[in-house]
Amino acid sequence: MAEEFDLVTLGAGSGGVRASRFAATLYGAKVACIELPFGFVSSETVGGAGGTCVIRGCVPKKLLVYGAAYAEEFADARGFGWGLPAAGAGAEGGPAHDWASLMKLKEKEITRLNSTYGNILKNANVALIEGRGALKDAHTVEVTGADGSVRLLKAKNVLIATGGVATGIPMEGAEHAIMSDEALALQSLPPGPIVVLGAGYIATEFAGIFRGTHGAQHAVHLMFRGDKVLRGFDEECRDQVQENLTRRGINLLPGCKPTKLEKHGEADLTLHYTDAAGAAQALKCGLVMMATGRKPRVEGIGLEALGVALDEHSAIKVDEYSRTNVPGVWAIGDVTNRINLTPVALMEGMAFAKSCFGGELTKPDYRNVASAVFCQPPLATVGYTEEQAVQEFAGNIDVYVSRFRPMKYTISGREEKTLMKLIVHAESDVVLGCHMVGPDAPEIMQGLAIALKCGATKAQFDATVGIHPTAAEEFVTMRSRSRRVPATGTSKL
Ligand code: FAD
Ligand code: NDP
Repeated sequence: MAEEFDLVTLGAGSGGVRASRFAATLYGAKVACIELPFGFVSSETVGGAGGTCVIRGCVPKKLLVYGAAYAEEFADARGFGWGLPAAGAGAEGGPAHDWASLMKLKEKEITRLNSTYGNILKNANVALIEGRGALKDAHTVEVTGADGSVRLLKAKNVLIATGGVATGIPMEGAEHAIMSDEALALQSLPPGPIVVLGAGYIATEFAGIFRGTHGAQHAVHLMFRGDKVLRGFDEECRDQVQENLTRRGINLLPGCKPTKLEKHGEADLTLHYTDAAGAAQALKCGLVMMATGRKPRVEGIGLEALGVALDEHSAIKVDEYSRTNVPGVWAIGDVTNRINLTPVALMEGMAFAKSCFGGELTKPDYRNVASAVFCQPPLATVGYTEEQAVQEFAGNIDVYVSRFRPMKYTISGREEKTLMKLIVHAESDVVLGCHMVGPDAPEIMQGLAIALKCGATKAQFDATVGIHPTAAEEFVTMRSRSRRVPATGTSKL
């Protein structure tokens, strides 16, 4: 016999948990949320409450970034008079790092968080049902448990929040490469060089994690098809990140195309590739990680039979209220491939709950969504890049750029610059974009995102009194315009 609910949610990740919780606690809906059994590496049968962000994304990644950042701290400490032993076996000449113990601590924390997410649902009166969910029709979901048992759930509304999965690039021997799930569950690092393929968020973040934790004598290569890392970000910021990665000892291999991965033995690989000049090359290494994008997780959940429309990237097509083309079936988060970030999935989940149960159709607001790349040092951004602003507003843009050596590095001796940038609409004085590459950029950008959301002008930035001495104060003291991009047409503002 089918169990009856007001809402059945497929997936207890960022979006699914938030939507289920809000539907139940704010609007009194009777909710069931279906999630696969917990494990670190996801598969057709493995998942866990908390989803990608908590188990194999933002959280474990950030813990490893913290771990890797000590390499920098050790090196900088020397400049401040700390008598560390000269040239240790770790990165930047610091002490050797024990990856296995960091991994054990990470696993303990993630296991704790997974059960916390189970409790969040329980406390909200949401039934967390373990198993694999699939739609039988628009109002019926079949859940298959790990033991093969089957439950039928019925609801007026079904929410698909199944997230995404990593996609590799096709080449012979691709199966010998790992993806981010496996990278976050590695029990040890190989003795040889590491190659990371790709140049997006995950690739640049993991290049930094590996560089900071791998032995000083082992190379970390970042191989990508374009000429620069982080396509889509502000060009000057991309240049700065690229320079920083190189300075921090990551070997950049732009313009390269991997062709074949050979495995000779454990941690004994050869990556064949074509270099930027078109010449065939081979690189001996111990580990290859593919960080070449993700795709929506839409297979095996009954979408085809139900006629749920997908776009050309296999993302579920939704309207501005997260409704699919099938009445009663909604979708949020990475499976809809709008902006694939945890806070966006949360926003979509809250808007869904209000639209579906709160009696008010509510659109998520995608304007001025801030984000950060946790490469080292990080890049953070909100609003338009210079290039986007020039295009969107037909020029008429003032650009303020500040590039300086952070105070800490003047004594530590690190040769690295922080970059800060403001993009301003020349006519209205509205700040359209803020960008930063440097220590603490994500923490600083979160505050600036509020200012942009409020439509702050450059004059209001200038009228704000700084906190001294900080790097952040530079955002309110940039008085000299670096350049003006003249108007070439009618502005949209
Ligand atoms: P998910 O969190 O992926 O949740 C989907 C859930 O559905 C999973 O738990 C899955 O097991 C479950 N599921 C799937 N199919 C079924 C089924 N048939 N039945 C039952 N359950 C099912 N974003 C940031 O904002 N900041 C970051 O720093 C950041 N770092 C990241 C690092 C990495 C390595 C990765 C991979 C992603 C990162 N992201 C980050 C992106 C972020 O994790 C996602 O945008 C976010 O998790 C999307 O939430 P979601 O609810 O759409 O999907
Ligand atoms: P990204 O889209 O950021 O980067 C994908 C990279 O793979 C790009 O460099 C792309 O190159 C390259 N690539 C794609 N296809 C190919 C191919 N066929 N051959 C060679 N290279 C290829 O995806 P990620 O996997 O890094 O991350 C997925 C998403 O997860 C992000 O977009 C983001 O939304 C989210 N995320 C957010 C984080 C954060 O907020 N800090 C951290 C991690 C993930 P090209 O640029 O040339 O297309």
